[in-house]
Amino acid sequence: MAARILDGNKIRDEIMHELGDQIRELKAAGIRPGLAAVLVGENPASQIYVRNKVKTCESLGLYSEKIEWPGDTTTERLLGLVRDLNSRDEIDGILVQLPLPPQVDSKVVLEAIDPAKDVDGFHPVSVGNLVQGRPGLVPCTPAGIIEILRRSGIEMKGARAVVIGRSDIVGKPVAMLLLHNHATVTICHSRTRDLPAVAREGEILVAAMGRAAFVTGEFIKPGATVIDVGINRLTTEEEVRRIYHHPEGVLAKLREKGSVLVGDVQPEDAREKAGAFTPVPGGVGPLTIAMLMSNTVKAARLRRGSRVAAKA
Ligand code: NAD
Repeated sequence: MAARILDGNKIRDEIMHELGDQIRELKAAGIRPGLAAVLVGENPASQIYVRNKVKTCESLGLYSEKIEWPGDTTTERLLGLVRDLNSRDEIDGILVQLPLPPQVDSKVVLEAIDPAKDVDGFHPVSVGNLVQGRPGLVPCTPAGIIEILRRSGIEMKGARAVVIGRSDIVGKPVAMLLLHNHATVTICHSRTRDLPAVAREGEILVAAMGRAAFVTGEFIKPGATVIDVGINRLTTEEEVRRIYHHPEGVLAKLREKGSVLVGDVQPEDAREKAGAFTPVPGGVGPLTIAMLMSNTVKAARLRRGSRVAAKA
């Protein structure tokens, strides 16, 4: 039987709808959650990401501010900006779009963000809160993955979960969230011995490695839930033919659009062997912005919450 497709767009819409209700409630208490998005330089992908984030804020009725600075901005100047945003009451979330230009010390800049406004969840204080299961801001993509599992009725409690990838942005935090949801978690990486055999133990398999269609049928336990985090762009017919067993449809799309996206999981194999899986595009991707919005609202509640309670 073909696997169930876990529709990220539909789940994103559900979350946005719920956020709309929360935002109206906050507004009634005189609070409009605000996000500042900082973009340094002219990376085209970053420009699109930031534009989408700001547009989504506007559609939800959140306050947003796009701050664009030139590519030769120094670490010192950025630190000044972050301190200014930290001090402004109407800003609940500060997002510094990565990657920053090479002359900027990204670590120092991210650590300067007030943890109460750390809507990306990358600050060491946020990481500590996550590990200890304290209230705080959780990285968006991992939080989105948990929403997909939860809202699709996939049981995490007691399940064997295997995460491929150990990055600070996806692999480690999603493993921690799965653990908090009572899964038995294995984290794999580039040095893991016999990766397909370890992956095959996963009733939930999360692929976050950034390798196009690396996870093939031999990695997938029959009936498993497969979460594909990877976003890889294919631009040549050769790549498409190498990856797909039946490449015709994808080749037609490539000729029409000039490129196609594929995840870290071979999608035909996932469809055949998994019980459920997230497609690329349209799986995990849409949740990332939704969870950023959710974090902005959560940051407003955590930081200004007593005032909400007082006014409500
Ligand atoms: P990263 O490069 O920081 O980390 C990749 C991890 O995969 C590393 O820990 C590495 O050990 C592991 N890995 C690499 N090659 C491997 C191999 N051959 N075998 C086993 N493990 C291997 O990447 P990241 O930031 O975690 O992102 C991973 C993927 O997810 C990328 O494709 C990225 O574009 C995508 N991503 C998507 C979203 C989204 O919104 N959907 C968000 C963030 C990242």
